[in-house]
Amino acid sequence: MSDDADVPESHPRYESLLTRHRIEAGVDMGITSRQGLIAQGRGEAYDYLLGEATINSADRAERAAAAYLLRADHAVVSVNGNAAALVPGELVALAEATGADLEVNLFDRTEKRIERIADYLREHGAEDVKGLTADDRIPGLDHERAKVDADGIGDADVVLVPLEDGDRAEALGELGKTELVVDLNPLSRSAQVATVPIVDNIVRAIPNVTEHARDLRGDPDSQQEVIDSFDAETALTDAEAAIRGGV
Ligand code: ATP
Repeated sequence: MSDDADVPESHPRYESLLTRHRIEAGVDMGITSRQGLIAQGRGEAYDYLLGEATINSADRAERAAAAYLLRADHAVVSVNGNAAALVPGELVALAEATGADLEVNLFDRTEKRIERIADYLREHGAEDVKGLTADDRIPGLDHERAKVDADGIGDADVVLVPLEDGDRAEALGELGKTELVVDLNPLSRSAQVATVPIVDNIVRAIPNVTEHARDLRGDPDSQQEVIDSFDAETALTDAEAAIRGGV
């Protein structure tokens, strides 16, 4: 990405600035919405308070998410405009490592933006990208935001939703799906309704979930043990304590 080169690596907050530039570039490419810029700003504030690092409880949540993805009958990784701009290749690698499908899902859905994101994921190695058929609906949401693919999120038992809005996260939870949420705000509704809330920056979270998945692959006993020992409430409390108290 050309903008990446403009940030000197010596800058103390290099990673954070790089992330911001990726979102800007995402808007320029028609991948990320303008609201995505605001979401990014909120995320940056929480990340700053977390010390811009993966706290231990987030690492445990990332391992639990990997276990759920591997144990799933049908796992889907949902991709929005911010996720696509920030970690396109990493999302493709996660889908490959866990056997999950990738499905584009947007808060402000336009066919053009969905196609751009699907193309961008393909440029980063994705073979099959769902989200364009939109032949199923999540009950309880207004028309445009309810759309999903019947053979994607519609059929999934486990869904990873990075940066999901609270309404949709709640509606997906009510359908009985296991939700793995990446959100830097432990108080957001998405994090609160998640089976596994991952309070971490998506740029650190996704590669770490992939690493855990590679480690847990082929070992169902360890996967089950990781799932059984994970407690969502503790993860949220730890994250909130880290944010309020300083790490
Ligand atoms: P809710 O309705 O669940 O309370 P919200 O209205 O706060 O959520 P948005 O405004 O859509 O939701 O904000 C997106 C969320 O994504 C914010 O909580 C923000 O902290 C989080 N976020 C933004 N960027 C990142 C990132 N890079 N990694 C992880 N989380 C992020």
